[in-house]
Amino acid sequence: MGMIDTIAVETSERQIAGKTVAVSTVLRGRPPSYLRVAFSTVIGLLRGMKMTLGYFLSPEEIVTQQYPENRDTLRFPERYRGNLRFKFPNAEEHESHAALVTQVSQEAEVDAQHAAAWMHEDNGARWYHNCTGCGKCEAACPNASIKVITRHGEILDDRELDRFVWRLDSCMFCNACVQACPWDAIEMTAGFENAVYDRRLLVYNLNKMAGPRINLIQDEENPDVRKRMVERRDRYGGPVPLNGFGLPNLLPVPAPLPVDEAVDAMPGQEGSA
Ligand code: SF4
Ligand code: SF4
Repeated sequence: MGMIDTIAVETSERQIAGKTVAVSTVLRGRPPSYLRVAFSTVIGLLRGMKMTLGYFLSPEEIVTQQYPENRDTLRFPERYRGNLRFKFPNAEEHESHAALVTQVSQEAEVDAQHAAAWMHEDNGARWYHNCTGCGKCEAACPNASIKVITRHGEILDDRELDRFVWRLDSCMFCNACVQACPWDAIEMTAGFENAVYDRRLLVYNLNKMAGPRINLIQDEENPDVRKRMVERRDRYGGPVPLNGFGLPNLLPVPAPLPVDEAVDAMPGQEGSA
């Protein structure tokens, strides 16, 4: 194929539909000789091999990440966003906070080992939160990926978070919710291993506990009262597709039958009640 010489452009005028139109014509240059094509091909090949040889002799220069072998040392740019979670409250008071988590998880009769694992979990919600349930993040989200459900807390006689439902399947990681939060309660993380076999798994509760924000729990000295302030929340409870709730573009999974009904529905149990 002939080479196009973009420098050699001829301009002229033509009559098209009764009008005079300026036309530019790009002239084809002379095709290169076979010898020149062969020469430039060999030069390109040698350039590529030079780079390969350079990385072979200086492996420290290699920038390609060997994932997942390097998972422990993987580093992301500071502003990389791949997941939303509750921000670890009082991060600078990690030790005292860890002690409180263990204490309250025991008070709440939750497996302390489980609690510790959740607390250090990077790819999901943390145990406690700093969320007041104000709903500003929900209002700021441009594509309705957040649903904040609140309840009335009897102990503090105030609004508190019940469930924070997040749609990872439709989130575009714009960070608007994080910026809208007046309590600095949520943050974007670099967690990116979100692949699942069913989209409905990507709609879940971010909070592990319903209740007031951590500072208000810490302020309460009576352990019995503290215990009554919080209530455990599971990942797929509430209005999510895995719990029988349909969402735009997402069909629900039928909610499991209550145990009594499930037993009644078992073969051979009809009419036995
Ligand atoms: S990052 Fe953007 S799209 Fe995702 S939940 Fe927050 S506001 Fe909505
Ligand atoms: S995360 Fe922040 S903005 Fe959203 S409901 Fe909680 S306190 Fe309000």
